Amino acid sequence: MRYGDTEQLIWFRTHIHDETDECVIWPYGCTGNGKYGQLVINGKIQTVPAWVCEFRYGPRPSKKYVAAHGPCHNPLCINYRHLSWKTYSENNLDMNRDGTMPDYSGKKHPSFKHGRYSRVAEITGIDLFA
Ligand SMILES: [Zn+2]
Repeated sequence: MRYGDTEQLIWFRTHIHDETDECVIWPYGCTGNGKYGQLVINGKIQTVPAWVCEFRYGPRPSKKYVAAHGPCHNPLCINYRHLSWKTYSENNLDMNRDGTMPDYSGKKHPSFKHGRYSRVAEITGIDLFA
C-alpha cells in the first residue's frame, strides 16, 4: 500500500486483473448522473471505465472516443473484457442496435474469443477455453 492510496484505488488495482466473463460491479461512488463509477486520483475525479480502458488498451485514441460497454451495457461494470474505446457514433450505433436488434455475437468486441466463449458456455455449459 502506497501513501495516498484510497480504499477505492486499492479495490480498483485489485479488480482490474479480474479474469471473468461476469460483470465486475464498481461498489463505490458514482459520477453526478449516478451512472458511472468514479475514482479520485490525486484530487481529480476520474471515470472508472475510462481508467480500465486506458490501463488495458492504452490511452484514449482521441477526444472522439468514449469507454463503451459491450456486450453487457452495465455502466457500473468495470470488467475490461466488457469495455473498449469506441467513438461516440459507434457507441450510439451500438445503443440503437441494442434497442432494436440485439447482437450478442461479440464480433465487435476487441476480444472476439471472449464473445464466442461466453455464448458457447451459456448454451452448452462447456467452458471451451478453460
Ligand atoms: Zn459487464
